[in-house]
Amino acid sequence: MKKHLIAAASAALVLAGAAHASGDHHHASWSYGGETGPEAWGKLKSEYSACTGNQQSPINIVAKQALESDMTKIKFDWSDTALQVKNNGHTIQANYDEGSSIKVNGDKFDLLQFHFHSPSEHALNGELYDMEAHFVHKADNGELAVVGVFFKEGKENKALAPIWNNMPQHVETKDVAGIKINGEDLLPKDTKEYFHYMGSLTTPPCSEVVNWYVLAEPIEASKEQIEAFSEVIHANNRPVQPLNRRFVLAND
Ligand SMILES: [Zn+2]
Repeated sequence: MKKHLIAAASAALVLAGAAHASGDHHHASWSYGGETGPEAWGKLKSEYSACTGNQQSPINIVAKQALESDMTKIKFDWSDTALQVKNNGHTIQANYDEGSSIKVNGDKFDLLQFHFHSPSEHALNGELYDMEAHFVHKADNGELAVVGVFFKEGKENKALAPIWNNMPQHVETKDVAGIKINGEDLLPKDTKEYFHYMGSLTTPPCSEVVNWYVLAEPIEASKEQIEAFSEVIHANNRPVQPLNRRFVLAND
């Protein structure tokens, strides 16, 4: 009996291994191109039906059409975190230890993780940036707040180096001993100027539960850094979605 169980377990492992090798694990049910690409997301699974909703992200932010609004500054209370880098097949993500949060317009959201898209997902005045970081936060009531930071090609970004140096080439989560990072090192000098709107996750299930805060000032990464990301994670930007009846607010 015991032998049988071991055989079954190793068969399952082989299957799991094969599934990983072919990329055919549960993450591969959607993609950024072809038959399972963004146009099809809403029809792939009933859980993804929100992807055809009318409050979707990302969007093209047209600065001069944004409503000037008297919002609060985002209060960043991010601590150092142990470095855990995950390649989930769709992005490179740094998971965040508990205890970091933002406060904005009266609400507190806890930082869970940040990850990257290249090119950027949001467009500003019709133009995509080279890359965009998303800092994903969750409030106790389940609402999310995502802070978006644009990257343009320029100087090497030293704060990216520890993440990039430990970027798993395939689907894997890597715990890196002895290295601490802090998301604050990936914020522009000016965080006062931002665009705020209500939208969604930019990946399935595309849930419309996201308070978006997209910072206006971009930061820089080198051409080599941007290319290194794209070699591991091919273009992972969902096309911009219609604004429909929403407003974008601008704080500056
Ligand atoms: Zn994202």
